[in-house]
Amino acid sequence: MSSEQNPCKNIRVVLVNTTHPGNIGSAARAMKTMGQSSLYLVDPVDFPSGEARALSSGATDLLENAVVTSTLEEAIADCELVVGASARVRGISLSLTDPRDTAQDVVAEAKDGAKVALVFGREDRGLTNEELRLCHRQVHIPSVAEFSSLNLAASVQVLSYELRMAVLAQEGSSKVPEVREHAPASSEQMEGYYKHLRETLEDVGFFKSCNPEKIMTKLRRLYARSRPDRVEYNILRGILSETQVALRSLRK
Ligand code: SAH
Repeated sequence: MSSEQNPCKNIRVVLVNTTHPGNIGSAARAMKTMGQSSLYLVDPVDFPSGEARALSSGATDLLENAVVTSTLEEAIADCELVVGASARVRGISLSLTDPRDTAQDVVAEAKDGAKVALVFGREDRGLTNEELRLCHRQVHIPSVAEFSSLNLAASVQVLSYELRMAVLAQEGSSKVPEVREHAPASSEQMEGYYKHLRETLEDVGFFKSCNPEKIMTKLRRLYARSRPDRVEYNILRGILSETQVALRSLRK
């Protein structure tokens, strides 16, 4: 897949001067679950570290491939769009966006080939104003004003999730995993089922004064919505057959 098709290749997460290595590991895990793989660490206090490894919970490839730099300037040198994540909204005339709009813009630009950085600050004091000035815009996760600061890895998770949603929306992919275990029943099978259903409903006297055509149209719509698979189809046919057997033995 070329970088044009996979925008994630052009997106990097930059953690600035992180104190706790566990947060680096947790951030790597958060990224990997959402399809992000490029991690930059600016002057980390403790890295590499067993704690980062442990908390990455298998996202060790991101840690092994992490690019370590001594300044933010180096980490973003080749980037065309730099977004700073900030818990506090500062008055430094950067445009401010929410994670959803940010992710859509980031994915769109990354898809066009631009390199994009999402920059996260220190646990205790976030990003400095000088660091924020290196960014083109600020993203703020709309937390409550009285308690606005998320854990570093949690904020990486929120942004990575929004990136993932933006990528899926752009690909037109489903956002829920396909859970179907068996192939859907074929049209021929369903036509056989509707015929069988109608016969059985007639046998049990279901239609009474109702118009069977109208009822069958509604039932077809119901089944079309749920699209039974082959195993479900067999169960449905089995119910009808057993109903007919029971009816026959009652009438004897
Ligand atoms: N006390 C710091 C918060 C640091 S939290 C401060 O006031 O800035 C560590 C990092 O997580 C922040 O620098 C920021 O990048 C990210 N973060 C935490 N909460 C956030 C929020 N509500 N919106 C955007 N980023 C957030």
